[in-house]
Amino acid sequence: MKRVIVIGAGISGLTSAVYARRSGFEVVVLEKAGSPGGVSTTWSRKGYTFEGGVHWLIGAKEDLPLHAVWIETGALQENNPVFYKDPIYTLVDDAGQMFLRRDLEGLEITGLRDKFALALLRFHLGCFRHFHSPIMDMPGLKSRYPRGFHPMEFVRMLPAVIMTPFLLLESATGYARRFKNPRIRTLLGAVVDPDINALSFIYTLSTFSAGDSGYPRGGSLRMAQNMADCLTSLGGEIRYHTPALSLSREGDAVCVQTASETLQADAVIISMDARKAIDKLFGEPLQERWAQRMRKHLKTTQCMFIGLGIKADLSAYPRSMQLVLPRPFTVAGITYKTLVVNNYAHETAYAPPGCTVLTCLLHGDSYAYWAAAKSDGSYAAKKQETIALLIDRLSDRIPEVKTFVEVTDMATPLTYERYCDTYQGSYMSHWEAGKRVPHAPMRYAPGIYFTGQRVSLSGGLPPAAETGHRTAQTLCKDFGVEFVCR
Ligand SMILES: Cc1cc2nc3c(=O)[nH]c(=O)nc-3n(C[C@H](O)[C@H](O)[C@H](O)COP(=O)(O)OP(=O)(O)OC[C@H]3O[C@@H](n4cnc5c(N)ncnc54)[C@H](O)[C@@H]3O)c2cc1C
Repeated sequence: MKRVIVIGAGISGLTSAVYARRSGFEVVVLEKAGSPGGVSTTWSRKGYTFEGGVHWLIGAKEDLPLHAVWIETGALQENNPVFYKDPIYTLVDDAGQMFLRRDLEGLEITGLRDKFALALLRFHLGCFRHFHSPIMDMPGLKSRYPRGFHPMEFVRMLPAVIMTPFLLLESATGYARRFKNPRIRTLLGAVVDPDINALSFIYTLSTFSAGDSGYPRGGSLRMAQNMADCLTSLGGEIRYHTPALSLSREGDAVCVQTASETLQADAVIISMDARKAIDKLFGEPLQERWAQRMRKHLKTTQCMFIGLGIKADLSAYPRSMQLVLPRPFTVAGITYKTLVVNNYAHETAYAPPGCTVLTCLLHGDSYAYWAAAKSDGSYAAKKQETIALLIDRLSDRIPEVKTFVEVTDMATPLTYERYCDTYQGSYMSHWEAGKRVPHAPMRYAPGIYFTGQRVSLSGGLPPAAETGHRTAQTLCKDFGVEFVCR
């Protein structure tokens, strides 16, 4: 039996581990943290559960190829049925509320320019209706349950393929600017980061309009734990609190050094952030052109996450809000005029009876600010200041927050770096308008593979699963092993 070591029990690492194990490899996963899931995680504080990962899962819908991966890896089971929210977001401002629904019916179209912009948006969503990342066998793979790509699938995806080059050149914000009504522009701004390309914006929105993208109840950790349990039930092993420190070669074998031992394997799959791995894992930093490009050009997606436990029932408020703040505020040099707030009042298991969890993501590059605060000793105080500021501004729209806040918690990019060792606390790849994304090769050298967020152009859970699936296939092909997916 060939042995493979997977570095990292995030979603990509677990995906490749499950498929490698199903295909007959002996699998050992080394994870630096104490639980599975990587940046896609959920945690509890004094009776409140904070969802710090998945907000929508692409491939939740049964007829999509990606759904098969979520089933085969054990991610989706009976214990985490998927909830499909509609509206996707609700704008809350002085004028009241406006809804971004899956069918776009809630948008308040005020003039000819908006009518045209809406027609174009519907057209683009129509083009992407059948678009999906193909989950299929790579050429030359021996597969026990062959999975091909039907030419009709390509025909159905052709409109999206044709639109792609145009959408890649434009940012999500630029796309939304077609609408004259500023409220619509603000509402659409909740979907993805503003400087991300319009392709990611349209693709994400199209998954909602096609009835996909739901929230697996129980959250990120339950989903990741399901995958970890799937792996161990198949005979795979996960060692938590066991960071891989370095890689070396001994003949055909690849050796992985941990704090206490040297493990030998026939292959290693690196699912930790490749940007970190190229400088840390190989003794000498890698100098290949792709590694140098990554060092020079990589952009990160960072956020500050704030979770609030409120001793009040907030179920009268919308689930996912884009709040327009009457009084903007500035943190880490970034001014926030709007705030995306997730309201978990309907997830009754996330808070004590009659209480509610709210979470906010403050997007933007704040790593340098928090790193400086850490080194001058003001990190904890600055976190408290930020939380107090956020509570104050949030209270303008949700007054209960100020009076009834009971528990607060905050993660900065340094938190993501500390727990998951991601580069500058990045939680997924960042695909800007008109830019190329530097990425790592899937097969770096014989027996050494990369998978996860830095192998793909786009970011999030689907690329984590797709790259994990493809890396396992590459491994099987290289070792002449039959790929078994279920
Ligand atoms: C707040 C938030 C909201 C999000 N919302 C969504 C969403 O709604 N939909 C969506 O699709 N995506 C979402 N994402 C993004 C998505 O969760 C990530 O892109 C994805 O989980 C990345 O998976 P990964 O396996 O590539 O990387 P990671 O999660 O970074 O996994 C890498 C793993 O390697 C481990 N590791 C690192 N170094 C070592 C080492 N030396 N030895 C051993 N182990 C190591 C880490 O601890 C980690 O477990 C969100 C992320 C965040 C943070």
